[in-house]
Amino acid sequence: MSNRLLFVGTTICSNRCFIPHHFTSRSCFCSGTLRNQTNMESDEVVVVAHPHLLDTKIAAIRNAGPPKLQVIADFDATLTKYRVNGSRGQSSHGLLQQENPEYNNKRRELFEYYHPLEFSPAIPIEQKTKLMEEWWGKTHSLLIEGGLTYDGIRQSVADSTIAFREGVVELFEFLEKRDIPVLIFSAGLADIIEEVLRQKVHRLFKNVKIVSNRMVFDDNSHLVSFKGKTIHSLNKNEHALDMAAPLHEQLGDLDGPTYENASVKTRRNVILLGDHIGDLRMSDGLNYENRISVGFLNDNVENSIDSYREAFDVVYLNDAPMWGVVKLVSQLCPGGD
Ligand SMILES: [Mg+2]
Repeated sequence: MSNRLLFVGTTICSNRCFIPHHFTSRSCFCSGTLRNQTNMESDEVVVVAHPHLLDTKIAAIRNAGPPKLQVIADFDATLTKYRVNGSRGQSSHGLLQQENPEYNNKRRELFEYYHPLEFSPAIPIEQKTKLMEEWWGKTHSLLIEGGLTYDGIRQSVADSTIAFREGVVELFEFLEKRDIPVLIFSAGLADIIEEVLRQKVHRLFKNVKIVSNRMVFDDNSHLVSFKGKTIHSLNKNEHALDMAAPLHEQLGDLDGPTYENASVKTRRNVILLGDHIGDLRMSDGLNYENRISVGFLNDNVENSIDSYREAFDVVYLNDAPMWGVVKLVSQLCPGGD
């Protein structure tokens, strides 16, 4: 397969929003103009392997209405850009710089040891899960031992190269207006994700809940422990919804009235956003009626495109913005502003 891939859609936005073929209106959500373009060759591609199936799901979710819908999203390289200013963007874990650089080196050594094991096909899953628990456990201990403070987190985020995809804020705002919950699942660090939202977006969203590793600080803002069960790269997807359930209860207590229908059980229609095929498992345990899965294939496109196009309903290539998903939810929830 060449680097240039077939654009399977028939409609493209003048602002290059990567709109799938089934969007037939004349103007795009981002105010760009749509024009028809069939089987055009392009480096900027959205791939929809089964357009009729996608249309059927869109119709079913639209008919059920916003009260039945929820969004489940991975964080790193899904909500955030894969590349920032031409270089690989940082992850919520990767951006963290401790005040004592010795501890940054220790965490990097752990990364160099465990990261290849995470992707080794030779290690059985049970053993690999134990290794990931070990890795996350040691990393968290180093963060505590190295004397991490909340100011250190703030400074790390300020110095980081992490950025949301264009359209993420508009997506969250659109969903917030309609009381549609967004669950962000991450094996990273919840406190950092929240700080990224504060610094890059300058606000938090009442409909956005983060299921990730959460830190506990003492009165002097020193990290002293982590709350609850460790969420690592392998249990994140297998047990994501189990971990979300207590969060809903907890947030109900802390934030006052919670959404009547925020429970993952009553919202049986799902938009799932991820950048790995394993992210599809984030909806495991949810007896969903309809799920539209959107995959961001950021790298290694030639080798992975076939598996992604079969695994996800919609695949965006080349670090695409979030405008196509904004358009998708506006199709699913028509009417109103
Ligand atoms: Mg990711």
